[in-house]
Amino acid sequence: MIAKYSQKLQSLVYLATQRGKHQISLSLTTLSLRQSVIIASILITGLVMGMRQAGWLQFLELVTFDQMVRLQPDAGPNPRLLVVTITEADIKKQWPISDQTLSQVLANLQQAKPKAIGLDLYRNLPQPPGYEALIKQLHSPNVVTITKLADPDGEGVSPIPGLPAEQIGFNDLVVDQDGVVRRNLIYAQEGKDKFYSFSLQLSLKYLGKPRDALKVKSKALLLGNTVFPALSADAGGYQNIDNAGYQVMISYRSPEKVARQVSLTQVLQGQFDPNWVKDKVVLIGTTAPSLKDLLFTPYSAGETVNPGMPGVLLHAQLVSQILNTTLDQQSIFWFWPEWAEFLWVWTWALIGGVLAWRLRHPLLLGVAGAISAAILFSICFSIFTQAGWIPLIAPTLALAIAAGTVLGYKLLHHTLRDALTDLPNRNLFLKQLEWVIADTKLHKNSRFALLFLGIDRFKVINEGFGHQFGDLFLFNVSQRLKACLGNRGILARVGGDEFAILLKNITDSSEVTVVADQLQKEMSLPFKNNGQEIFTSISIGIAFNQTELDYQPIALLRDAHTAMYRAKDLGKGRHEVFATGMHTQVVKRFQLEIDLHRAIEQQEFFLCYQPIVCLKTSKIIGFEALVRWQHPQHGFVSPAEFIPVTEETGLIIPLGKWILKEACHQLSVWQAQFPADPPLMMSINLSGHQLSEANLVEYIQQILKETGINGKSLKLEITESVAMNDVEAAISILLQLRTLNLQLSIDDFGTGYSSLSYLHRFPVNTLKVDRSFVSRMEETDEDAAIVQTIIMLSHALGMNVVAEGVETAAQQAKLQVLGCEYGQGYFFSKPLDSKSATVLLDSQYTRVCYGVA
Ligand code: C2E
Ligand code: CA
Ligand code: CA
Repeated sequence: MIAKYSQKLQSLVYLATQRGKHQISLSLTTLSLRQSVIIASILITGLVMGMRQAGWLQFLELVTFDQMVRLQPDAGPNPRLLVVTITEADIKKQWPISDQTLSQVLANLQQAKPKAIGLDLYRNLPQPPGYEALIKQLHSPNVVTITKLADPDGEGVSPIPGLPAEQIGFNDLVVDQDGVVRRNLIYAQEGKDKFYSFSLQLSLKYLGKPRDALKVKSKALLLGNTVFPALSADAGGYQNIDNAGYQVMISYRSPEKVARQVSLTQVLQGQFDPNWVKDKVVLIGTTAPSLKDLLFTPYSAGETVNPGMPGVLLHAQLVSQILNTTLDQQSIFWFWPEWAEFLWVWTWALIGGVLAWRLRHPLLLGVAGAISAAILFSICFSIFTQAGWIPLIAPTLALAIAAGTVLGYKLLHHTLRDALTDLPNRNLFLKQLEWVIADTKLHKNSRFALLFLGIDRFKVINEGFGHQFGDLFLFNVSQRLKACLGNRGILARVGGDEFAILLKNITDSSEVTVVADQLQKEMSLPFKNNGQEIFTSISIGIAFNQTELDYQPIALLRDAHTAMYRAKDLGKGRHEVFATGMHTQVVKRFQLEIDLHRAIEQQEFFLCYQPIVCLKTSKIIGFEALVRWQHPQHGFVSPAEFIPVTEETGLIIPLGKWILKEACHQLSVWQAQFPADPPLMMSINLSGHQLSEANLVEYIQQILKETGINGKSLKLEITESVAMNDVEAAISILLQLRTLNLQLSIDDFGTGYSSLSYLHRFPVNTLKVDRSFVSRMEETDEDAAIVQTIIMLSHALGMNVVAEGVETAAQQAKLQVLGCEYGQGYFFSKPLDSKSATVLLDSQYTRVCYGVA
């Protein structure tokens, strides 16, 4: 898996060198969020480990080390030790303390039989009187004295002359850069010279072991079975420290009372319990603050009054640690190898990344981040109590940086990606287009194409089934488009129901139409959306780049968009290549939309009525209502032009309601004025959108009630293509309409490729033969045969026939011979306004009345 990402990373680096910095940030957004989390965490781990390597984190790691030392419980005084302190009161009496006094102290202590006495005082010069006596005391084999090794920038202090080597230990301490003592230099070696620390020497005396008992290996000291591993230069939070000799981290025992303390005066006066001394290690040293033998320890940061620890107490800590390690198996600080630290830091970077990826709410992310950091600290601390020092600052940093980076990436991702489909959004797509345009400028011959895809009738789906359903549908569409396109091009969502595809490096425009055909074919298969089968189609506009022209991305997208509009206008479910001149059409079309909105408000519509005539008697049996629009500037606008636009914009719903009401109202007037048997009929055209309106049936019912006309006098016309679009739905709505006793008719029959197998299931009364067949009836035998067949078919199915577009007497005669019941057309009358239609009805009525009379 890592190999896969590193490959991706390599290709990104390649991209960066190829295209410059600006573009890599955008290329990055082609990563999924999950990929970004993994890649970011690896990069950030590398970064943090690099900072660590450079030593930038050492200070903070040491600060937290100290914090954890202070958090540990106080282990109290070590019963193996006693410290004789030279206090402020002691030095007030005499300083330096005379040899005589000191030898008296040693003598008093020796009486109680300690195992070892450590004198943490430099006595290389005599302080008379009593020098002889002191030297004698110092020669007791259980006494250890100090020396200071010469370091590069200081003079050493030589040991008391004449004492055997076994009784001398160095008291040098290793101090970290921040002045704090955290390490114990136990032993060092230079050539043949061996150097034993004061604490080690005392411990050996206590253990009753000679110097030879210490085995020196290359990376550890061995004392009996106890191993003291030498500190490496990069151990724990350290980075490149001076780890000369053999050092271990100090396990501090207690901030103050590392051992029982008695003062020098008390010892001199014999005011101590001999049991405090018997078999113990006794250390003698100054604790008087004025002598300034104070050192900073991890406890110092917590102390404001006395931040320093007297040297003798610090040495007591060291002795205590060595003894507890050898005798009680107390563990020495351990550390992780570099690779384990890397994994550890990476883990936390991943956690930070995943949190930022998964959690949406910033507050939630903040809380989760804080909890993670707390968990991290408690893990580190509990390992610390088991003497393990593992990185704390590095993973905390990795956690925070990874969360921040992924959060930033997420925001960038959201500004450039569509949240619903995760496809590039319009902004990103335009950027990508910009690069491709720049690219084609460099390589003169390369061509590309832009496909603009619009889902046909999405509005109907979205409004009919609800937005959630619509979203799911869009997602499914995007998935199918993605799968169909593969890696042939870049897919983006550029609008609500609009997608765009960029096809690069095309050699032939037929390649593009092949893709468009494939997409269209794929989209015509039904979608299973929430268990519901949805049929749709897409209209595609195609724009090609012309290498000689200077293109703006937005202009190219607009061209493709325009071509898509054209494809929709030409009947949907098809593709059109952009051609100049399309823009003006589109602008016109937009203007039309605006005008239509106004027309509805201002009631610029009116209805015309075209008579439908009984061919046998030549009597008007009813009318077809046809809507008209009187545009204030352009005059009369054909319904063939504006009805499709009202359908696409949804304006057909209010307009259709008005038409229904108006036509019914007119019919009720005429029925009252011209009673007949059967009564006059009114045919009203119903668009597909009206048909899927939820409350259509109730609305018509209400109008019938208002106007008082019988449902039988009302005939609804739906075109054959609408009826066939979704057969089952159409049948179910038509059946509902039939409950109102309405008459139903299939309009433009013969143009919609009806499946005859469905026809008998439609609950309709009438077929209207399309005008195109009637008008050609006299010219070709085929059309005459078609008309004849339709008439026979409808009769066989129990329906009657209306022939549309009858223009000549010959047509009328022929239709009559073929048994067609009704006719409609200019031969009888053009559509008339209500006044003229009333006049026409009136003349017929008087004729009939005369006839009767
Ligand atoms: P349609 O429903 O097929 O309406 C018949 C069309 O044929 C009308 O055109 C009518 O004027 C025309 N026509 C009738 N007799 C003749 C003839 O002898 N010769 C010729 N050449 N044409 C004839 P119109 O009024 O322009 O309407 C066009 C289409 O617009 C209609 O076709 C219908 O689909 C739609 N439409 C018109 N009014 C409405 C309406 O109120 N609601 C809806 N939904 N659609 C309407
Ligand atoms: Ca009609
Ligand atoms: Ca028609």
